[in-house]
Amino acid sequence: MWQLTEKQLDLQARARAVATEVVGPRAAEVDRTESYPWENVEALREAGMTGMTVPAEFGGPGHSFLDAVLVVEEMAKQCGVTGRIAVEANMGAISAIMAYGTDDQRRLAAGLVLDGDKPAICITEPGAGSAASMMTTRADRRGDGYVLNGKKHWITGGGVSRLHLVFARVFDEHGEEEGIGGFLAIRDETPGLVIGRREPTMGLRGIPETEVLFEDMAVGADMVLMPPSGFGRGFAELMNSYNSQRVGAGTVALGLATGAYERALAYTKEREQFDRPIAEFQGVQWMLADMSIRLEAARSLTYRAADSHGPDGSPFPDPTLAAQAKVFTSENCIDVANDALQLFGAAGYSRNNPIERICRDVRMFTIGGGTAQILRTVVAARILDMKLPQTRDGFQRLADRS
Ligand SMILES: Cc1cc2nc3c(=O)[nH]c(=O)nc-3n(C[C@H](O)[C@H](O)[C@H](O)COP(=O)(O)OP(=O)(O)OC[C@H]3O[C@@H](n4cnc5c(N)ncnc54)[C@H](O)[C@@H]3O)c2cc1C
Repeated sequence: MWQLTEKQLDLQARARAVATEVVGPRAAEVDRTESYPWENVEALREAGMTGMTVPAEFGGPGHSFLDAVLVVEEMAKQCGVTGRIAVEANMGAISAIMAYGTDDQRRLAAGLVLDGDKPAICITEPGAGSAASMMTTRADRRGDGYVLNGKKHWITGGGVSRLHLVFARVFDEHGEEEGIGGFLAIRDETPGLVIGRREPTMGLRGIPETEVLFEDMAVGADMVLMPPSGFGRGFAELMNSYNSQRVGAGTVALGLATGAYERALAYTKEREQFDRPIAEFQGVQWMLADMSIRLEAARSLTYRAADSHGPDGSPFPDPTLAAQAKVFTSENCIDVANDALQLFGAAGYSRNNPIERICRDVRMFTIGGGTAQILRTVVAARILDMKLPQTRDGFQRLADRS
C-alpha cells in the first residue's frame, strides 16, 4: 500500500465522511434526474475540497495532486459524477492556469474554483477528437485581443461551468497561423460563448456534455493563457497540464470500481445459495481475489503518477506514468465493475442496485481524456524515444526534416 502521511490519511477520512454522508445518498437521484449535484458541490466547497491545488498566495490550501486524488477516489466510490467534479475543480484547467496564467488570471480562476466552479476545458471538435491538433476553431488577432469562431463538442460541464479554457488555432493580424493557444472565457460574461446541444450519455448522467460554440467571441489580451514557449509550442505545453486531469480521470474509474468491489464483497458474505454464503465457493473467492489484485495495482499506479513530476521541472505528473496509469486503471476498472455485477447475479442487473449505474459510469474512462489506444501510443513514443506521427505523411515529413 502506498504510504500516505498522517495528514493525507486525515484528509482521506474527511473526504470519506462527506462522500458517505452527503454524496452517496443522492447518487441514484442524480443519475435518474440527470441533474447537476449542486448540493454535493456545496458540500465539497464547505469541506475545502474545491480549489485544493490553488497555492496559498491565491487563497487556496496548496494541496498536492495526490491529495486531490484521495478526495476524488472517495467521492467516486459513492458517485462518479461528484468524483468528476472533484477532478475538474482541483486538476486540469485550473492547474494549467496556475502554472501559466498571469497573477490576474490566477486570481480570477482561484476565486471561481474556491467558490465551487468546475472549469470546462474545450479541446474536442466534431472533426478533431483523438487528432486534437487538427482542431479548426480559430482565434484571429484584433487589436490587443482575439476573436474566436468555431465549435467544440463533448464539453463536460457545458451550461454549468463558468470558467472555460478554450483551445484554438491562432492567427496574427495578417492571417498567418501562429500555433494553438489557450483562451479564458466566462459563461454569461464573455459575449459569443454559446452553450449548444446536450449529448444524452450512457452514464455519468448528472454532468452535462454539450457543444460549446464561439460566435465572434471577443477576448482581451488579459484572457490569453500564454505558456512560456508562446503559441508555437504552446499546445504541447498546455496539453502537458492535462496530465493532471488524466490522472484524475483514472482516479474516478478507480473509485467507481472500488465502490463496486466493496459492495460485491459484502454481498457475497450475505447472499446464500446451496445453504451457504456464496463467498464460500472457490469460484467466487478467486473472482474477488482477482478484483482486489487489479484494484491494488491500479491504485499504486495512480498514486505514483499523481505523486510524480514530468521532466524539465514540469509541475505536472509525468506524461508516461499518467498515460500508463490511465490505460491500466480505466481498462481494469471496467472489468472489476463488470465482475461485481456478475457476483450480484440478477440483483446486479436491477436499476435499484448502484452496480448497474457504476457499470455505465465506469465505461467512459477508456475514451475521455485520451483513448486507451492513443495513450498506448503516448507510452510507446516515450519508451522508444521516437516521434510516432499518426498522419499518413507524418513519417515522410519527419524524414524530410532530418
Ligand atoms: C463523457 C466524455 C467527456 C468528455 N469531456 C471532454 C471535455 O470536457 N473536453 C474536451 O475537449 N473533450 C472531452 N471529451 C472528448 C474526448 O476527449 C474524445 O472523445 C476523445 O479524445 C476521443 O475522440 P473521439 O471521441 O472523437 O474518438 P475518435 O478520435 O474518432 O476515435 C475513434 C476510435 O478510433 C481510435 N483511434 C483514433 N485514432 C487512433 C490512432 N491514431 N491509433 C489508434 N487508434 C486510434 C480511438 O482510440 C477510438 O477507439 C469527452 C468525451 C466523453 C465521452
